[in-house]
Amino acid sequence: MTAERPADTGPPFACVVFDCDSTLSTIEGIDELAGDRAEEIAALTARAMAGEVALEEVYGARLALLRPSRDAVARVAELYLARALPHAAELVAALRALDKRVAVVSGGLREAVLPFARAIGVDADLVRAVPVRFDEAGAYAGFDDASPLARSGGKPAVVADLVAPCRPGRAALVGDGVTDLEAAREVERFVAFAGVADRPAVTGASHHVVRRADLAALVPILFTAEERAALAASGAHDALLAAAEGARP
Ligand SMILES: [Mg+2]
Repeated sequence: MTAERPADTGPPFACVVFDCDSTLSTIEGIDELAGDRAEEIAALTARAMAGEVALEEVYGARLALLRPSRDAVARVAELYLARALPHAAELVAALRALDKRVAVVSGGLREAVLPFARAIGVDADLVRAVPVRFDEAGAYAGFDDASPLARSGGKPAVVADLVAPCRPGRAALVGDGVTDLEAAREVERFVAFAGVADRPAVTGASHHVVRRADLAALVPILFTAEERAALAASGAHDALLAAAEGARP
C-alpha cells in the first residue's frame, strides 16, 4: 500500500459509499450461489478478500464453476435483503435526509446487488457491481470481464468516480474486504466494518473499526453532533438514533 491516504477531516461527509457483501448484508452473494460446492467457493472468496490471491484469479473461476441462472441470481437478491444488517434502510434514509450522496460499490453480481440496494433506498444510478449475462432461457451466459470490480485494484477507480462531486474533504467509505481497503485512499474516512467478517488485514490497517453487527454503530462515525441533532429534531429517525446509542462501536 504505497498511495498516501488523505487526512481524515471527519464528518460531515457529502458522499458515503458502502460495500455490499458482509457490510450491508451478512451474506457473500457468490457463496450463496454455490450449493454443494459451497466450501470450495467460500475458500476462494475468503482468500481473495484476505488479499492472499488477486481477485481476478478467482472471479471468473467461481462463476465458471457455478454458472448461475437468472433465477438463482434473483434468489440472491432476495437473500441480500432478508439478511440485511439491522438498520441498513434506516441509515440510508438518514443519510439521504441530510442530502448525502449514498452509493453502493460491490464486486458482487449487479443483477443481485441492484434490487437489494434499491430496496434499502439507494438510487439505482449510484450502484456499481459486475454485470452478468443470461441467455433467453435464463441460463448463465458469462459476466462482464472488463468490469474493474472483478479485479484487484479496480475498486479505487470506481469509488473515485462516484465520490468526485464530494472531493476534496467530504467522502467516506464503509467496507470489510481488502478491495475496500485499497479504495480507502480515494476518501477521507475509511471505516472497516467487521460486524460480519473480521479480516485482520483490513481492521489492522484502519483507524475506524466497527465490530457490532448493526449499521446503527456507524452513526457517530458518519454524522456530526449537529447532524444527529437535526435527525433527532425531525422525529423520523428515532429507531436508528436509539440503536446508535445502544451500539457504540
Ligand atoms: Mg464485502
